[in-house]
This record gives sequence, structure tokens and C-alpha cells, in this order.
Amino acid sequence: MRDYRIETKCIQSGYTPGNGEARVLPICQSTTFKYESTDEMGRLFDLEKDGYFYSRVQNPTNDAVAAKIADLEGGVAGMLTSSGQAAVFYAVFNICGAGDHVICASAIYGGTLNLLGVTLKKLGIQSTFVDPDAPEEELAKAFQPNTRAVFAETISNPALVVLDIEKFARLAHGHGVPLIVDNTFATPVNCRPIEWGADIVVHSTTKYMDGHAVQIGGAIVDSGNFDWNAHADKFPGLTAPDESYHGVVYTERFGKKAYITKATVQLQRDLGAVPAPLNSFLLNLGLESLPLRVERHCYNAQKVAEYLNAHEKVASVNYAGLPGDKYHDLAKKYLPHGTCGVISFELKGKREAAVRFMDSLKLATIVTHVADARTSVLHPASHTHRQLNDEQLAAAGVSPGMIRLSVGIEHIDDIIADLSQALEQA
Ligand SMILES: *Cc1c(COP(=O)(O)O)cnc(C)c1O
Repeated sequence: MRDYRIETKCIQSGYTPGNGEARVLPICQSTTFKYESTDEMGRLFDLEKDGYFYSRVQNPTNDAVAAKIADLEGGVAGMLTSSGQAAVFYAVFNICGAGDHVICASAIYGGTLNLLGVTLKKLGIQSTFVDPDAPEEELAKAFQPNTRAVFAETISNPALVVLDIEKFARLAHGHGVPLIVDNTFATPVNCRPIEWGADIVVHSTTKYMDGHAVQIGGAIVDSGNFDWNAHADKFPGLTAPDESYHGVVYTERFGKKAYITKATVQLQRDLGAVPAPLNSFLLNLGLESLPLRVERHCYNAQKVAEYLNAHEKVASVNYAGLPGDKYHDLAKKYLPHGTCGVISFELKGKREAAVRFMDSLKLATIVTHVADARTSVLHPASHTHRQLNDEQLAAAGVSPGMIRLSVGIEHIDDIIADLSQALEQA
């Protein structure tokens, strides 16, 4: 559905019923699929034929939603995973193995920091964390002969650093590796990283895409643009025979869909982080209203950021929608219609004031979550980024007194009234 606008794609893409079929995407709650002959099923196992056989690998409900998200991002193909963490893991592990190296922006989600910095290291994959704002020449020094990918977030969670996507794409491509971008906070409504040079896009669909906090999920979208064969020695997993499928070569058999096909038929087969079809159905309902919700989240967050910025008890506010924000110019370029509903700020009274403020909120609730319809609040230093030491906190752009406020889609006056009474207590 390449010609439709994003509002239309959010409703229509991914599933088109045939004559007499269900108008709404059906939940295909079946683990298995039936075939008439042994031979036909055998050919599915050899990837010689397209079709469903076991829901760990592929399921029609999951695939329809993956196709919708791929269309929203402007990619050639997509897949769903059971969480955003699994999506990030697969996206990297699909092209990296022991002895390989990843360059990652230091301002990223705490879970990704742990995954790359601790867990992948145990599998022999090393990561170098770089300041996303550093000049190009500086960043180029982080590349090694074994570097296989560059990873960053469009708008980082929770530091709200806006990525210079073109700079990162240039660096990655100049060194013959793909750029993987986590587009969770921006959503394809506000930014489509592929249009700026990203090769792979990942999402935690748990956040705005779902929008109602009812399912944990992830997605990977392949732009189809990266030329794996031009760097065949770096990516043998895609360009050399896969013994586990009788020697299939993904780039030969699947062309532009090589990356996502490998992630689906190999990683999903072997690691199994697959979403339940019911969860994909719920995610699809969220996607239908995504453009409306994102618009309201951004409107409300802008008002809240302006309110906090003018408040005497507030020391600083991070929100790229504010003209004085460090990332305002990058946001105007990459996110001209708005950034997201998440704001971070610090009170003059630091950590203790932050705790008093949060404990006094009535409408906004303390939850380990962001980016859903309800206004919610979290203290990164004692919650999501609890495992990091002060140095790592600073690198991730998280100060001990920072409050992460996820502005919901309630009425703006009610949100501000709640903040106002809690600030009086702080
Ligand atoms: C939440 C989040 C993740 C992890 O996603 P889960 O669905 O919680 O596993 C990854 N990246 C970003 C930017 C996130 O906000």
C-alpha cells in the first residue's frame, strides 16, 4: 500500500479480506497447519515452498501485523517478536556472532545497554558505546575490522537524545555495515528512519504502537536496501550456505528479503521469541489509532514541557519540542510534526524532591512503562537504570534526580493540575 498516507496504512495495511472473509484481522489461534502430503510439508521445511506449518516460525495473524508495520516504516518485510528486547537481540544476532563487534550510541534504553554491554559479551560479541553527538571523525575511530553493525535510537529512552540519522547512516555505510535504528519513541508516524538511510528498524511495540499497555511485543523491519553481497565476507550468515537448511544461501534465494527471512526461519525457529496471535491482534487494534494518539501525545507533552520549563521548582527540562532544547534543530529536521509524549526533567531539590513529587501525583501513576494512553511517571536512576553505576548513568544521559514523565492523552488541563499540586508538595 505504498501510495496511501500513514493514517490510511494504519487502518488498511497488512490484511485484505477476500470475498466472504472476516473484515477484521482474524486471530489464528493454532500452533499447526495441515497438509495433504508428506512431500508438501517436507518442501516447507526446506524453504522450497512458502506456507505455514508451525506458529513458532510463522503465523498468519502475526504476519499480517508484521506486514502492516513494515509498510508503515517503508520496508520490504517485517517480523514480530515477543518483546522489544527480543527484537533488538535478533536484529543484532542475525548478523553478529562470537568475535564480532557492534557500535552503539551510549544514550539508549537501559535494557539494550544491558543486552549489548553484558549479555551479548558473554556470547563473544563486543560493543563500543559512543556519544551520539560526537563529530563524525571522532565516531569513525570506534570502527574495527570486525565491526558488523551500528545501533542507535531515533529518540533515546529516557535521555531524549535525537539521533542525527544521516550522520550515523553515512558512518555505517562508509565502513560497509548496516545501521539499525530503534524507532520506538518516534513511531513511523513522526519519523521513518529508512527514509534517512537506516537499513533495519526495530520497535518495542509495547509502547505507542500498542498504546494501551496490554501486550509486550517487538518488531523488526528490513529496508531491503543493504547490499549484503557487496560485503559478503562480513556477513557469511547471509551470503554463505546455511547447513541447517541443506545449504540455502539467503541472499541468493530471498534477495531483498534475505535478512528478515533468515531472522524468521533460523532465529525464530531456534530461539522462539514469538508473540501469541492474540497479542498481535491487540497490537493491531492499537496501530489503527496510532496517528491520532501520537498527535495528542505530542500536543499534550509540548504544553507540559512549556509549563514545567516556566516553573520555579524545576531546574531543567529535556524535550526537543522546546526551542531552547539541545536537540530542537535535529528534531525539526527529522521529526517536523512532533517528537513523542515523553519528557524528562529535574527538580531543583534533586533526588529527594523527585521522590516527594512522584509520591504526591494523583492522576499520573508510578509504573515501569512509558508511552501509553495514561500519564505515567518513573525515576530512571532507581528503576529502569538501577543496575548502572554513576559513570554509566551519565553516559546514558540519566542524572540521579531525573524524572521521566510519559504524558498521556487525558485532557491537558487535568494533567497540568495534577503536576501543579504535586510540585507544591515537592
Ligand atoms: C521498552 C523499550 C525496549 C524494550 O522493549 P520491551 O517490549 O519492553 O521488551 C527497547 N527499546 C526501547 C527504546 C524501549 O523503550
